Amino acid sequence: MENPSASSNFIKNIVMEDLKSGKVDQIVTRFPPEPNGYLHIGHAKSICLNFELADEFKGRTNLRFDDTNPLKEDTEYVKSIKEDVAWLGFEWDGLFFASDYFEEMYSRAVLLINKGLAFVDDLSADEIRLTRGTLTQPGQNSPHRDRSIEENLDLFARMRAGEFKDGEKVLRAKIDMSSPNINLRDPVIYRISHTTHHNTGDKWCIYPMYAFAHPLEDAIEGVTHSICTLEFEDQRPFYDWVVEQCEMEHRPRQYEFARLNITNTVMSKRFLKQLVDEKIVDAWDDPRMPTISGLRRKGYTPEAIRSFVRETGVAKSYSVADERMLEHFIREDLKLKAPRTMAVLRPLKVVITNYPEDQVEMLDAEINPENEEMGMRQIPFSREIYIEQDDFMENPPSKYHRLFPGNEVRLKHAYFIKCNDFIKDAEGNIVEIRCTYDPETKSGSGFTGRKVKGTIHWVDAKHALPAEFRLFEPLILDEEKGDSDNFMEHINPNSLEVVQGFVEPNMKDAKAQDKFQIFRHGYFNVDSRLSKPGHLVYNRIVSLKSSFAL
Ligand code: ATP
Ligand code: MG
Repeated sequence: MENPSASSNFIKNIVMEDLKSGKVDQIVTRFPPEPNGYLHIGHAKSICLNFELADEFKGRTNLRFDDTNPLKEDTEYVKSIKEDVAWLGFEWDGLFFASDYFEEMYSRAVLLINKGLAFVDDLSADEIRLTRGTLTQPGQNSPHRDRSIEENLDLFARMRAGEFKDGEKVLRAKIDMSSPNINLRDPVIYRISHTTHHNTGDKWCIYPMYAFAHPLEDAIEGVTHSICTLEFEDQRPFYDWVVEQCEMEHRPRQYEFARLNITNTVMSKRFLKQLVDEKIVDAWDDPRMPTISGLRRKGYTPEAIRSFVRETGVAKSYSVADERMLEHFIREDLKLKAPRTMAVLRPLKVVITNYPEDQVEMLDAEINPENEEMGMRQIPFSREIYIEQDDFMENPPSKYHRLFPGNEVRLKHAYFIKCNDFIKDAEGNIVEIRCTYDPETKSGSGFTGRKVKGTIHWVDAKHALPAEFRLFEPLILDEEKGDSDNFMEHINPNSLEVVQGFVEPNMKDAKAQDKFQIFRHGYFNVDSRLSKPGHLVYNRIVSLKSSFAL
């Protein structure tokens, strides 16, 4: 099913040309997350793209933590990112931290100062922004732009030594305040931040800016194709400037593609963190989250995520993928793998009045009719069973073929039963259905005497195991409101529904992350945090049918 090399994309074409022309001998890519949150499915796209390219052309891929902003970064995120990349099925060649290169980056900044290409500025962040100009107007030179090299070297060393407070000074590249590309108007390349870093502790109190650090990291690691998302297209001239002016031996090239967005969800880590912090969801791995860990806990497989990501393609223009496309791929993946089972989510008791009181029989059923190799299972059947509340109506409309007084239905894998009576409690709720069964109609017996229109599922009341089912709806109500700042106004208040019911006794050994197709209800995954022996908890991954066509 999966065949990465079958699909082509413009980045792959560039790689092939570069290999053919001898511009590169071996390609080196990297996945460079900032450890300031958990990875989401958008990152999966970047991961697949980078790792699969290198795999296909016998290259290398590094996992590099872009940890240049200590305020937001944490080792918890480092750990989860490693886990998620490995779970997706990829092995990195090198594992690096941008912070490992701080000393080297510092000396490259000193080199820029020595070449007259960087200066220490005393302007505040606001002043720098106000003097940067606009798309139509040039910016203004800083009054400190012409400091001597000696003064700059001295001030930069003192910045490093901790003589100044946060924001008091910055180091800026000296390029061109009237460049049509605003990113070239003397961008800040170092700032002061007296913050403990998750990796370097208190060794540093100045940190390189992302736009300066990233090209150096790529160059140090010998990255050949530095793939990033479209927002960085305007940064490319500065990327190239840094590599050249810092006299890096190796020259990486940056290529941009459109980021992945999905309907009815937020995607940016910043927004996902807000959902966690404001307790809209339980955690980063809440099954409603589009994080890799959330999708895993919901029951997605790496195969399904990789197939989905591949199907979305690598494009140069913005687009939003339909979340139903993601669902399509998990159904495809689980169709042959997931055992079938029956469960009743909202139980209603049925007593089969002509079934012997103490008798229990074991009925045969296929574990997966679409994959015979999985074999058979046995399901107990006796006088009392549970069916869905929905599968009985006292006064049904004309097209209703399930159970109602006087009607006969097939119990999946068992017998025909006919409803004769029902019992209501004091409040008028139906609490018990009374039926008779016809022993002639046993499933698999070849009975052809008569037909019934409805087939319903059931579990045996005495043997079934209690279970909790967690049913999900999209977190964001409006399809496209996902990545806008006011997404909180579009939160779906009903994104989680918890119901209590029963599963077949075959589930007694079900372990966390086991996946099943529950007859009529969809694919479910045993929750890895909440499920315990004696208290099984299932997350619905996806319902069985979709209107979505690929
Ligand atoms: P976020 O806004 O979610 O924090 P980011 O781009 O800031 O995303 P990084 O940790 O810097 O997150 O990203 C690591 C890599 O993943 C980058 O190369 C980035 O371009 C890529 N990436 C992030 N989001 C997406 C997305 N939605 N689609 C494709 N690639 C993405
Ligand atoms: Mg980021």
